[in-house]
Formats: sequence, C-alpha cells, structure tokens
Amino acid sequence: QAAIEIEGLEKVYAGGKRALDGVSFEVPRGQIFGLLGPNGAGKSTLINILAGLVNKTGGRAAIWGFDIDRNPRNAKFSIGIVNQEILFDPFFTPREALEIQAGLYGVPKAERRTMELLRAVRLDDKAEAYARTLSGGMKRRLMVAKALVHAPPVLVLDEPTAGVDIELRQQLWAYVRELNAQGVTVVLTTHYLEEAEELCDRIAIINHGRLIANEPTRTLVGMA
Ligand code: ADP
Ligand code: ADP
Repeated sequence: QAAIEIEGLEKVYAGGKRALDGVSFEVPRGQIFGLLGPNGAGKSTLINILAGLVNKTGGRAAIWGFDIDRNPRNAKFSIGIVNQEILFDPFFTPREALEIQAGLYGVPKAERRTMELLRAVRLDDKAEAYARTLSGGMKRRLMVAKALVHAPPVLVLDEPTAGVDIELRQQLWAYVRELNAQGVTVVLTTHYLEEAEELCDRIAIINHGRLIANEPTRTLVGMA
C-alpha cells in the first residue's frame, strides 16, 4: 500500500481555471518524494486537496490507505502539512503552540512530545519566548514541529525553502533526512530542481495541471 494514492485528480476553480487535469501517481511509503513544477503548475492545489482545504472536482485521493472522501478524519490524522503561510498566535510561546495543536488533535498529555519536538527543530531554547520574537527561520521550524504533533506517518512540505537562505535551507534538508530515517514518508513541493535532486528518492513533475514525469531521481537526472 502506498503512502499517498492519487487517481485522475481534477480541480477546476470557480471561474473556470483548470488547475489539475487528471493527475495520477503514488507516493511509496518510506520515501522522500518531490513534486516539482513551475509556478502555477498546480502543486499547491494538489497539496491543499490532500489537506482538505480545497475540494477537488474529480478523481480520488487516499492517504495511508484512507480515502479523503470516505474516511476524511483518518486521512487527515495520517498527514502533517506545512504550508507556506506562517500560522500561529504571536503571543503564545512555541511550547504553548505545540500544546494547543496537540489539544486540537486530541493527543493525550502523557503522549505529547512537546520538548522532544522543539529540540528536534532546535527551538528548545526558545520554548518560552513569544512566537512574535522568533526569526523567520525559527517560525518555519515551529511550523514543521506543529505539523508533527500528532505523529503522522506522512509529512508534506509545500515549498519548504522558498526564499530561505542557504544555511537554513541546508538545516531544513538535514532535518527532512533525519525524519525520513525515522520512518516518516516525506512529500515536498519545490520549483528548484537541485533541491529535488539533492533530497528526493523519486520526482514527479507537473506542468499546467498535468503529470509529465514520475521517475526515480537517478533516472530523471540521467535524462536531463
Ligand atoms: P503552484 O503551487 O504550482 O504554483 P497553484 O496550485 O497555486 O500552482 O495554481 C495552479 C493554477 O490555479 C494557477 O493558474 C493559479 O493561478 C490557479 N489558482 C490557484 N488558486 C486559485 C483560486 N483560488 N482560484 C482560481 N484560480 C486559482
Ligand atoms: P534565521 O535567523 O533563523 O536563519 P531568518 O529570519 O534570518 O531566520 O530567515 C532565514 C531566511 O528565511 C531569510 O532568507 C528569510 O528571508 C527567509 N524567510 C523567513 N520567513 C519567510 C517566509 N515566510 N517566506 C519566505 N521566506 C522566509
């Protein structure tokens, strides 16, 4: 069974824009999978459908075997998503932000890994600082920790390093590898080919809402 299965996925926005035009692929469990494509290709639309933020207009999708229509709650609990927007209350601390998130997901107090997660994203020394005082890079790392609070088997990162400097980019890459080594299946979108090459076991390319490649990274790089 795949981590994510997408079949004939279609999205036509109100107004008629066809953002996804019959996309099918599977993300194998245990991989780092790159979804590559230029701006406007449909990457965020696809991620937002998986997140339950956008309704598809056709096709089907399943996360960890759970169909997003028939079993939306199990699907949702199987995935953690880091969007490009930075979303948390500036007057809560990172520790509080993770506790609030754990509460939303119904993670029992005894099973919460708040400090462990903060250590993993190197924010343990900021655990009690107001989130508004964190740097941009720290805020991004807090978003990653938030997405992992319910210990999902799949983590999706939408353009994790867009506009990020080289040092932070390398830190994020190292952390993605570490998570993957711990068994988390990672899907990331990017428009940087070198990022996908560096990190991903497999790369799918979409353009104008259509899948134009889906290959092991080695094969794809050999073709370029
Ligand atoms: P990417 O993430 O690859 O840059 P998007 O999924 O954001 O691509 O966008 C795919 C296409 O759908 C683009 O042409 C974009 O302008 C359009 N689009 C995205 N969101 C909306 C929306 N809410 N309403 C109408 N069109 C949209
Ligand atoms: P740190 O000091 O932790 O490295 P910075 O505040 O210096 O964090 O930000 C690191 C990089 O991330 C900078 O290049 C900044 O422009 C970029 N960045 C921060 N927040 C965002 C964001 N929301 N979207 C895009 N880029 C961001």
